Amino acid sequence: MLTRFAPSPTGELHLGHAYSALAAHDAARGAGGAFRLRIDDIDGSRSREIYVDAALADLAWLGLGWDGAPVRQSERLGAYDAALADLAARGLVYPCFCTRADIAASLAAPHGPAGALYPGTCRHLLPGDRERRMAQEPHCWRLDMRRAAALVGKLWWEEEGQGLRAADPAAHGDIVLARKDAPASYHLASTLDDAAMGVTHVVRGADLIASTDVHRLLQALLGLATPLYRHHALVCDTAGQRLAKRDAAASLAALRARGVDGKKLAADLRAGRLPSGYSLKMP
Ligand code: GLU
Repeated sequence: MLTRFAPSPTGELHLGHAYSALAAHDAARGAGGAFRLRIDDIDGSRSREIYVDAALADLAWLGLGWDGAPVRQSERLGAYDAALADLAARGLVYPCFCTRADIAASLAAPHGPAGALYPGTCRHLLPGDRERRMAQEPHCWRLDMRRAAALVGKLWWEEEGQGLRAADPAAHGDIVLARKDAPASYHLASTLDDAAMGVTHVVRGADLIASTDVHRLLQALLGLATPLYRHHALVCDTAGQRLAKRDAAASLAALRARGVDGKKLAADLRAGRLPSGYSLKMP
């Protein structure tokens, strides 16, 4: 068994991250398996080295140890490029020149699990126009979802202990696989990395359940093994909202600075006892 915790170093870790890291760590260690760290630092404009150092210090404070050196997405760009080139060679991706404003202005855009669906404006550009614009305009790469879904047919993934779930990646529309400002999207990088790291159980928050449908599709398209999934409840604040990086009061650095004992906090979180004002919720 091999699990991972994969923070994005774009802010301080909070109680929700602690809960997630403990869940992934304990699942592996309880089975005599390995627990690895991955730094999801693909977004160069938002990732900060100080948050990498802070995350490692927070995990050590909680009493968590990990196996091997952390994997860094910023060192795996070649693997993301190769996968994108593979999909491109099979006609499954296309360059998209739309700005956020263009997409927002398209009133027809229906909504999917992660917000407005891409209306498909750039899917049917004439090859000549496409090449001319690629040479001149910034663009992202989108998956041609209908074509991809038709190619792989019906897919399932397994929530551990709860059986198979039918994947519905088409509900996400033509997702971005490589961004204008980052060489791979979360979906592409995370799916490739989980497979390359040999992750057997993806333990993460239930906010990512819908993303798993997309990851299952990418696994099928790219010939990758499918791990088991364990989506856990989310740490929420008094208003019932799941924590975000802006919730400074719940940051592990703030708790540490207030003199909280990290190992005691870890024991409490393991027992489902949260600091007052916080609770666990399944979305
Ligand atoms: N870096 C991602 C995040 O922090 C990881 C999500 C995942 O576990 O797949 O949300």
